[in-house]
Amino acid sequence: MRALVIDKGCLCNSIFHYPVNMVFFTTPELLEIGDLPLVSPNEKPTRVEALKYYRRAAEHYELELRCLSWWFAWRQRRELYCAHEDRERGSG
Ligand SMILES: Cc1cc2nc3c(=O)[nH]c(=O)nc-3n(C[C@H](O)[C@H](O)[C@H](O)COP(=O)(O)OP(=O)(O)OC[C@H]3O[C@@H](n4cnc5c(N)ncnc54)[C@H](O)[C@@H]3O)c2cc1C
Repeated sequence: MRALVIDKGCLCNSIFHYPVNMVFFTTPELLEIGDLPLVSPNEKPTRVEALKYYRRAAEHYELELRCLSWWFAWRQRRELYCAHEDRERGSG
């Protein structure tokens, strides 16, 4: 069985939107996934370190990702709207 990650934003979208200089209150070992170590020179990892780590983890475990950016969602809605308009005008 394989995992499929679907997110309306980027990978780790929530952490991506945390305050830029945010520092986790959890120690690195508790944020680790599987046997992949989260190495940080700090006692508590930063948002940037966590983002790098989870992106690396996604690569390491070869996770299949479906990250739907706002741009992608907007473009899809726009294309649907244009197709609808074309049909209404009889040109689609
Ligand atoms: C500032 C801050 C600091 C924190 N520090 C720590 C810490 O040090 N240690 C700790 O253990 N916890 C910490 N937390 C809490 C921790 O981040 C959350 O408990 C954890 O992220 C919850 O994980 P989750 O996967 O359940 O939800 P989330 O991480 O919120 O993930 C949910 C995902 O679902 C996506 N999504 C939402 N709706 C849709 C949709 N309709 N379609 C597709 N995708 C969707 C979102 O984009 C998001 O990426 C902190 C939280 C904050 C805000």
